[in-house]
Amino acid sequence: MTGLIRAVINGHALRANLRLLRQLAPGRRVMAVVKANAYGHGLVPTAVALADADAFAVARIEEATLLRAAGVRTPIVLLEGVFDAAQLAEAAHHDLELVVHDPLQIALLAAARSPHRFVVWLKIDTGMNRLGFRPEQFAHALAQLRQLGPQLRELRLLTHLARADERDAPQTAEQLARFAALTAGQGLVTSIANSAAVLGCPAAHGDWIRPGLALYGVSPIAGESAASLGLQPAMSLRTQVISTRHVPVGETVGYGGTWQARRPTRLAIVAAGYGDGLPRNLRESTPVLIGGEPLPLVGRVSMDMLAVDVTAARSPVQVGGDVLLWGAGLPVETVADCAGTVPYELLCGISQRVPLALEESHFDAG
Ligand SMILES: *Cc1c(COP(=O)(O)O)cnc(C)c1O
Repeated sequence: MTGLIRAVINGHALRANLRLLRQLAPGRRVMAVVKANAYGHGLVPTAVALADADAFAVARIEEATLLRAAGVRTPIVLLEGVFDAAQLAEAAHHDLELVVHDPLQIALLAAARSPHRFVVWLKIDTGMNRLGFRPEQFAHALAQLRQLGPQLRELRLLTHLARADERDAPQTAEQLARFAALTAGQGLVTSIANSAAVLGCPAAHGDWIRPGLALYGVSPIAGESAASLGLQPAMSLRTQVISTRHVPVGETVGYGGTWQARRPTRLAIVAAGYGDGLPRNLRESTPVLIGGEPLPLVGRVSMDMLAVDVTAARSPVQVGGDVLLWGAGLPVETVADCAGTVPYELLCGISQRVPLALEESHFDAG
């Protein structure tokens, strides 16, 4: 493998995670969430690897257009819908399914001139207070959509859970009860569950599950590891050692001199920095795997480099040595904790200069 930093995507892991989620929600259909460049894993390669999904979901119309341009014919759901007539026409052209969460979007559909018949997902705000019609607005929105007639191929219902990542949060039960009360007897297809709810809340499965994070092999549930849930990390962020040096007691490393050697120290300089999407606030002692061994980060992350204390390494660390920043053997969840953030942000934040390589072998070196 040439180059320095790269994100190696394991297609086998993506498919294994999809299979696991299907087993956990038997008989349900899967809308694989591939927004934000498939959580940094590469939109088109991920969609190709997950060709078995029943649909894909994206946040923005540009993402859907890229999938269609790549020849993806699977249904695609626009999670935020469209916001003007031009987007509505484009959605018709690409045969996209629309989430409708605002009266403006119903008006756009009612005014549409094209003969296209949309699958529409009416979004109910059951407590997230972000998008969707509130329970008291639901009946009116539903009636308006039903009046659309020819523009409507099928009407479906969805909601989104705010706290499914906490096992047994009472707010989840409340959201489910509100959704059930509104949707009972309508005879309409439903969708509720993000990854956390697929894994932790069978009552929330509905007809279509909407996993994102878990497909990428990352735990969506607070305090539970991906491995314990049976998920396999799909991304390994790999790079190399580009220099090593000895630092005498009292000297510092990097900008600001925030770390100081308290003993004679051997450092490895690693080609990875915030220019690649690593957080600058990764705290000291964040583990970095060099030659498979976890070793502590020291000093500040800079744009293109970071430093690792390899004094205690059991095998000698050399220039060109293999470095794993996260992936199989070092969960991105751990690294996110060290930056005070969530794995979602780290994965989506990978920079454009980091090449993505899809690897199909399941003997991935890990
Ligand atoms: C992003 C998103 C999901 C997927 O969430 P995960 O926690 O990654 O599984 C599901 N539904 C909606 C509406 C989303 O915006």
